[in-house]
Amino acid sequence: TKWVYGFGGGRAEGRADMKNLLGGKGANLAEMSNLGIPVPPGFTISTEVCTYYYQNGETYPDTLRDEVMAALAKIEETLGRRFGSVEDPLLVSVRSGARASMPGMMDTILNLGLNDQSVEGLARRANDARFAYDSYRRFIQMYSDVVLEIDHHNFEEILDEAKEDKGVTQDTELDAEDWKKVIARYKDKVADLLGKPFPQDVHEQLWGAIGAVFGSWMNQRAIRYRQLNDIPESWGTAVNVQAMVFGNMGNDCSTGVCFTRNPSTGDNEFYGEFLVNAQGEDVVAGIRTPQQITILGKEAQRSTLPAMEECQPEVFKELNAIRHKLEAHYRDMQDMEFTVQQGRLWMLQTRTGKRTTKAALKIAVDMAREGLITRKEAIRRIDPVSLDQLLHPTLDPKAPRTLLTRALPASPGAAAGKVVFTAEEAEAWVNDKKEKVILVRVETSPEDIGGMHVSEGILTTRGGMTSHAAVVARGMGTPCVAGAGDIRIDTAAKIMRVAGKEIREGDVITLDGSTGEVFLGAVPTIQPEMTGDFATLMEWVDTIRTLKVRANAETPLDAATARKFGAEGIGLCRTEHMFFDPKRIIAMREMILADNEEGRRAALAKLLPFQRQDFIELFEIMRGLPVTIRLLDPPLHEFLPHTEAEIAEVAREAGVEPELVRSRNAALHEANPMLGHRGCRLGITYPEIYEMQARAIFEAAVHVSRETGRSVVPEVMIPLVGARKELDLLKAAIDKEAQAVFAEQNYAVHYTVGTMIELPRAALLAGEIAETAAFFSFGTNDLTQTTFGMSRDDSGPFIGVYRARGIYERDPFASLDQAGVGELIRIAAERGRATRPGLKLGICGEHGGDPASIAFCQKAGLDYVSCSPYRVPIARLAAAQAAL
Ligand code: PEP
Ligand code: MG
Repeated sequence: TKWVYGFGGGRAEGRADMKNLLGGKGANLAEMSNLGIPVPPGFTISTEVCTYYYQNGETYPDTLRDEVMAALAKIEETLGRRFGSVEDPLLVSVRSGARASMPGMMDTILNLGLNDQSVEGLARRANDARFAYDSYRRFIQMYSDVVLEIDHHNFEEILDEAKEDKGVTQDTELDAEDWKKVIARYKDKVADLLGKPFPQDVHEQLWGAIGAVFGSWMNQRAIRYRQLNDIPESWGTAVNVQAMVFGNMGNDCSTGVCFTRNPSTGDNEFYGEFLVNAQGEDVVAGIRTPQQITILGKEAQRSTLPAMEECQPEVFKELNAIRHKLEAHYRDMQDMEFTVQQGRLWMLQTRTGKRTTKAALKIAVDMAREGLITRKEAIRRIDPVSLDQLLHPTLDPKAPRTLLTRALPASPGAAAGKVVFTAEEAEAWVNDKKEKVILVRVETSPEDIGGMHVSEGILTTRGGMTSHAAVVARGMGTPCVAGAGDIRIDTAAKIMRVAGKEIREGDVITLDGSTGEVFLGAVPTIQPEMTGDFATLMEWVDTIRTLKVRANAETPLDAATARKFGAEGIGLCRTEHMFFDPKRIIAMREMILADNEEGRRAALAKLLPFQRQDFIELFEIMRGLPVTIRLLDPPLHEFLPHTEAEIAEVAREAGVEPELVRSRNAALHEANPMLGHRGCRLGITYPEIYEMQARAIFEAAVHVSRETGRSVVPEVMIPLVGARKELDLLKAAIDKEAQAVFAEQNYAVHYTVGTMIELPRAALLAGEIAETAAFFSFGTNDLTQTTFGMSRDDSGPFIGVYRARGIYERDPFASLDQAGVGELIRIAAERGRATRPGLKLGICGEHGGDPASIAFCQKAGLDYVSCSPYRVPIARLAAAQAAL
């Protein structure tokens, strides 16, 4: 096996498509090298070494040492410098690089190869002793922290004392002689704590760093990040060893991060930030406020510093050419890191850039129009679930507000929440107190990842658009305002001060991550408009997909939202949801608690007009699209009165003694209501309930059809059917009611009667059931519950353990269990269609909005999926991807 792959000097042994082996960073460094883009020479130790390392008691393959030495010799040859040399030393960086980017989660060591001798060589070559000794002390600090596991506060103390002794406050005020003294004290400290000296042997340094990077694959941060992002542990990381270039050798040096297009808006403009005379990590750390690469309208007005375009036009020209070359080559927006050493540009990284959903849409649509990619590729590139970000509210422009400050719009969207000042507090408030929080920090670091994840929004007082907070928030789709320098945070007292106000932990603020504004209190929000690139992509999507997308909706608001999002009908109207209104619940309770048919009919007569009006509104909103109305389904106890006052109220309404109500209440108690007296069993035992609902449906249908002249397409759906006989009886009753209404009104409409498939028995006997049912809708919530024998309401506590232990990969209530529940669906579809070839098939469980489940539905030959209104666009896109 080959373990090490070299790159640099216009050649490379790797390629971009070798990510699994070389990690993202290594593969792309090789690719850039092959493209003739200036990359400091180096080599990548493959992810297979990581796998070997963990499978063999943290040891390396036998031949690794020789391969590393040979690759190192190549770098020396390319640059004409020697590792550990006293004359002109080669210094290297050692970095992790996994298949998927894990920003800041693993270890990095810079300036490796410095020791008491080579530091002098560096000083001579750079003609700058201060720079050389500063680099050496940084290296000792970093190496000690990462490899020797000596806490960095030890070094900070020494540094603070050195500044105090000299009577200065800034690091920059220390000269070479001061740094030499600091270094001596650093080394003493290491020897003290470690019982042996800081390693002077550069090869020992190199192997220590390689081991630390492989070791960091298993640190807590990295493990947590992998869990949050579904990255398998088995992938492992590669290690990249690369010649150092310096962005901190003077004012003709710089370092920065840039994107080929704007990652926030998607605009086709060169977007990035850099710092003059700085080292790589300084940009991402957000410690200094960076300069822009290009003059961009709004940003330029904000920034008082010149853009690279203005102050380093030559470098800018070269960088801009590389931008175009890389984007054309990768055919996607790139996120690049670079360093300029003494006027010479070096590329340190390129990768597919993270972007907001808004930007992703714009970039995909623009690139398809530019001819860089096809429309199908554009569709494939958008993660359906990410559309959710666009469907979220923005601030109501008319709402009053109190502006606290304005800073960088680091991640779009609006959010309100209670202020907390640490990531731990954020997790505690959200998990324990069930509060919504805004995390306010000076800057964030990878340790804050858990707290950032649970926060509604993130506000930082330092750092730019590429600071840790900004990058991570954009990835999570969490609104973020960064670099709010006006805000003073007193973490100890848990107070922030801004605009003459004091805001304490627990006070509410609102962030607008699209404008960078921060407001006091909660500002009302409004729904977004579905226009522009979103609408364009959705048009393309609709030409590709074959699955129809409907919505689960019962209120006029939900139905209207569903239409706005492109729903092609209602796939599930849960009629029981219509009875929780205070005006109706009493009549509902009266109906349930009546102990005879007469009492039930009296109560149902009160409900009929309400129900009819509900359906009139739905039919009107859906304008000729199909509306699947499910007759009453839930266990009756859900409607029972709970308090004495409620019992008294029902008794009064029904004109009976409270005692009677109480005893009926007790009689209706069920040990296992989900498997009890519910669904079509209600229709079988109390036929008058479904009769009333059927009457309401047909009266409404006749009314709307007559008034509007449009066709109305009611699909009457029976829940929880397990036997064909159930359906036969109920369909007969429904047909009878329809005929009665049509005769009374002297007007008929077309309708169908179908069933839900929610029980394994129904799936297996689908052939018989299809003789009566005109359509099937898979109720996969119940079908999952009944197939697994696992309560949909009570599985939360153990399903997490099941997933953690690898028994089930995903929660089967969130993503369809294709092997088990899916098999029942395949069987039911096949047997149903064998009986009735044109049988219409749909799904209306939660899975109807889950992209993986939608792909399954496509394969199983379903006609439509139905999901909650907000997921309709997600389902449309997922359906198109499934059809590609
Ligand atoms: C289902 O069971 O999947 C379904 C859609 O019905 P409900 O969730 O109302 O039981
Ligand atoms: Mg159900």
